[in-house]
Amino acid sequence: MAGYDLHSHTVLSDGTTTPEDNVAKAVAIGLDGLGVTDHDTTEPLHRAYAAAEGTGLDIVPGTEFSAELDGSSVHVLAYWIDPGNEPLQREMDRIRNERKRRAEQIVARLNDLGIPVSFVRVQELAGAAPIGRPHIARAVIETGAASEMQEVFDTWLRDGGPANVPKYAVDPVAAVELLVAAGGVTVLAHPGLYGKGDQGIDQATIEAMQAVGLVGIEADHPDHDPATRDRYRRIADRLGLLVTAGSDYHGERKDLELGQATTSKAVLEQLRAHRP
Ligand code: AMP
Ligand code: ZN
Ligand code: FE
Ligand code: FE
Repeated sequence: MAGYDLHSHTVLSDGTTTPEDNVAKAVAIGLDGLGVTDHDTTEPLHRAYAAAEGTGLDIVPGTEFSAELDGSSVHVLAYWIDPGNEPLQREMDRIRNERKRRAEQIVARLNDLGIPVSFVRVQELAGAAPIGRPHIARAVIETGAASEMQEVFDTWLRDGGPANVPKYAVDPVAAVELLVAAGGVTVLAHPGLYGKGDQGIDQATIEAMQAVGLVGIEADHPDHDPATRDRYRRIADRLGLLVTAGSDYHGERKDLELGQATTSKAVLEQLRAHRP
């Protein structure tokens, strides 16, 4: 399978596989390159580089940065950022702390709703990773209150759901500014999956992000239906943005395979050309 899968997660955020597992899998299926994009951390990058050494796999180092707009999270993928950039690490630190505070509040709400989930267990499931709603959902499933992840989101944790609490994060424009200042090439992740009922992000917000350096949108995401892909491809055409694809692999957490969506080498080189 040729091409670049530009969106993947590991146990260093809310995936279930290690950076080494993902690299081995990418090599096994014949990918040209792998985007390593854990939420709000650059921790997996050195491990991915080490694992890829001598394999010919091109590691595209990155992160999937959390921003927030109107109570809904907006994810910005950034490639080739400098992990040593202090303002970026400071903001990611703040988001990780904020994730912890918010997880405590979500657990309290779930407890009020009669679900005996414990924050200690959630923390255990997250390990050293920034706590995400998927970790909380796993803990809920362990209590027997639900049998699958999607059920937990649909019932309690979705944006606007009865137990969800938005987290503080910078807005998407400030996120792009911060990431560009850290040397990143930025792409709006899964634009169709935001807001209540996944109505998707609007063109005006994308334009505002583009004005400060956004260069692409992930129109090809496994969770986008064909109409959503078309809609964002047209927006990308209109605005002169690149279109990228990635699997958003999370190991066993999602019904997706690494390499399920890939970006061509030609587009990858156009992204690379935007490095500051
Ligand atoms: P968080 O970063 O804690 O806001 O959690 C975000 C993650 O939760 C996303 O990457 C998805 O994997 C998952 N998620 C968010 N909303 C939903 C939803 N409505 N249904 C299923 N999974 C969701
Ligand atoms: Zn995730
Ligand atoms: Fe995301
Ligand atoms: Fe993701």
